[in-house]
Amino acid sequence: MNPSFLPILEDLRLDGTDGRWADRMADVTPQDVEGALARPPGRYSFDRLLILVSPAAQAYLEAMAQQSHRLTIQRFGKTISLFAPLYLSSHCCNICTYCGFSSESKTERKRLSVDEAVAEADIVAAEGFSDLLLVSSEDRHAVNTPYLVELAHRLRDRFSSLSIEIQQLRQEEYARLFAAGIEGVTFYQESYDRVVYGQYHLAGPKADYDRRVRGPEEIAATGMRRIGLGVLLGLANWREETLALAEHGAFLMKHFCRSQISFSFPRLRPAQDVESQQFQHLLGDRDLVQMILALRLCFADAGLVMSTREPAAFRDALVKLGVTKMSAGSKTNPGGYGEETPSLEQFSVDDQRSAGEVAAMIRSQGFESVWKDWDAAFAAAGG
Ligand code: SF4
Repeated sequence: MNPSFLPILEDLRLDGTDGRWADRMADVTPQDVEGALARPPGRYSFDRLLILVSPAAQAYLEAMAQQSHRLTIQRFGKTISLFAPLYLSSHCCNICTYCGFSSESKTERKRLSVDEAVAEADIVAAEGFSDLLLVSSEDRHAVNTPYLVELAHRLRDRFSSLSIEIQQLRQEEYARLFAAGIEGVTFYQESYDRVVYGQYHLAGPKADYDRRVRGPEEIAATGMRRIGLGVLLGLANWREETLALAEHGAFLMKHFCRSQISFSFPRLRPAQDVESQQFQHLLGDRDLVQMILALRLCFADAGLVMSTREPAAFRDALVKLGVTKMSAGSKTNPGGYGEETPSLEQFSVDDQRSAGEVAAMIRSQGFESVWKDWDAAFAAAGG
């Protein structure tokens, strides 16, 4: 039996059943924030994070940014890793009302055969990427474990790192994928608030909140090397979501030390039949920066990942604030790298620059862009 996060989430009322944490954060004073910032950064405690994501801490973003910058350079050097997503399918059996691939959407769908996916991967590799994230909607009968095992076998010699962001699998399926060379899984809870989760996930296997919460521990139990957590920012109050997300990360770090945990920051984006204005909890740039800094100041070694959902200027500003990994030149539709006529995207990309342009921006800030997953190379060398 795996250690289980769900009872912790419920005991702490981080599943949104009570407003106690919003009240506690509203009571945080400037003295509390100064006290938290006076202690050495990098170690998680629930109380410390609660102070750093409170409304009172917004007045201290500059001090938080300086600490985050120093700490990130100490742990990661002046580097930003680059990766590319490769979308495999837009067929989906779930209704998630924020997503362009939701099964209700009447638009034409597309899925790639293994050969077509390899051809797309060749284009991505030719741009210089060595870290590939295979992404799919829940298209279980086509993009399933045998498909992914075959694809991993075809790709693993060309990429230093292969990861997936797909439907939730069973633990034994994750173990098969890990054995086939897939070493990372990105798995967002979307929202830790049980009621909100139910409002946005109307049908399909993903609508099961408890099963979703169990996902990361089942992935970690296989020894998966990297696990990416996140919430979809805009569905619920970001401050309370950050508390739950961090507690989930801390739980995994405590019980599954073989897996490196990272946090991503997907803000809701417009998509087919989805307008951002329909979401009540969209957060502004200062809020998102506060969330990133607060997590860095509590988790010195966590990867912090930023996608092309965000505008170029905002991503540029994040290079020095604690982010360690970025996607670049992304296409969010299956076959998007090779096709001339665009098909249905999961969401619209904001930063449209090529990978080379993003790398040049990183260099211009005195940082180095890293295209290869050196950890994987060292792990392989060590047997
Ligand atoms: S979020 Fe994922 S599971 Fe939900 S509709 Fe979109 S692709 Fe399907």
